[in-house]
Amino acid sequence: MVQADLIVENAAQVVTCDPTRGAGGRVGLVKRGAVAAGGERIVWIGPAARVAAEVRVQPNGQRVDAAGRVVLPGFVDSHTHLVFAGSREKEFAMRARGASYTEIAAVGGGILSTVRATRMANLEQLVELGRQRLDRMLAHGTTTCEAKSGYGLTLDDELKILEAIRRLDKEHAVDVFGTLCAAQEVPDEFKGRPDAYINLVADKMLPEVAARGLARYIDVICEQGVFSLSQARRVLEAGARHTLRAKFHADEFTGMGGAELAAEVRALSADHLLKANMEGIYRMKAVGVTATLLPSVPFSLGLPYAPARRYLEAGVRVALASDFNPGSSMGFNLQLVMTLAVTQMKMTLEEALLGVTLHAAQAMGLESEVGSLRPGKLCDLILCDVTDWQQVPYTFGANHVSQVIKRGRVAWGS
Ligand code: FE
Repeated sequence: MVQADLIVENAAQVVTCDPTRGAGGRVGLVKRGAVAAGGERIVWIGPAARVAAEVRVQPNGQRVDAAGRVVLPGFVDSHTHLVFAGSREKEFAMRARGASYTEIAAVGGGILSTVRATRMANLEQLVELGRQRLDRMLAHGTTTCEAKSGYGLTLDDELKILEAIRRLDKEHAVDVFGTLCAAQEVPDEFKGRPDAYINLVADKMLPEVAARGLARYIDVICEQGVFSLSQARRVLEAGARHTLRAKFHADEFTGMGGAELAAEVRALSADHLLKANMEGIYRMKAVGVTATLLPSVPFSLGLPYAPARRYLEAGVRVALASDFNPGSSMGFNLQLVMTLAVTQMKMTLEEALLGVTLHAAQAMGLESEVGSLRPGKLCDLILCDVTDWQQVPYTFGANHVSQVIKRGRVAWGS
């Protein structure tokens, strides 16, 4: 008899994303299922018919009636630029019709406008902005997310953003893991001197961030016009010396050998990957780098999508994330990301679901804690107001999540 202090009962389906459990192949589907938690962790999953014989809910425990809804693992958003100030709606339509950098700068837009606004904001303001965004992400089913710095581009401003991320992780129900992404852009003060800026990142920012324990991951934009392959390697290797795992922007607009670099430095994940070559893809497969695809970016910019099938057919694990950011993806709804993965990148519904759950957890190195429903993992789950989980991506543009349980407690909805 398992002791529990929370049980979710009467679900039409419990989709575990654990292939060893239930039917439905890789998504591990338990029909008419229930999930029980003890403290923060799952202690039992199975069909409702076995609850009475196998689970004892403490007298003061909580019973959540799923009432025919569908239970999924909480979504993991493994790539976000959560913390920034300012807003850039003025350039949204311009970007979609392909406006140039100069045209966008002329209306006061572009990434450096976000940098200016973020430098002006204080810690409290950044925490408050982040909190509002996390509230909405949680309401859309995200229970774990990654959050990058990168709109400060000075030591103090990058520390301020990462400090905001740490505060958010502590204070908000969503678990938030920080990434030093100071090598997101060359700041104005270093215009034409990217190597000097990379030195600042590698020699000053990284040691300080690591000493304060403010980041778990290191990121760099390896892209023509931003940072070269060798500059990216320098940042990622410096990160590794401080035990920060690499998760970086690779081969988005131009094939730069980013996928090969990801394999070379044993990155957790290479992200975007619209232009990676086959050699790079095979090397990623060989060492187990996750490909993180971000379809809301081309959706937002009106551009072609990443060739997801190429990765899947090569045997590379594919994660899906929002890339929430003010320039190219002002969206955090992973249900819509699943839809885009299916309709635009020809992924199956199962691949799309694993992309925002188990594979996203693997892209963050968190697969032993989150990403699927299994005894021992955190009890992070969502209840969706549908009768079959496939309706979540199928009926798009709406929020199907009506209740969220995070670490064994109801964190949102009813
Ligand atoms: Fe990004």
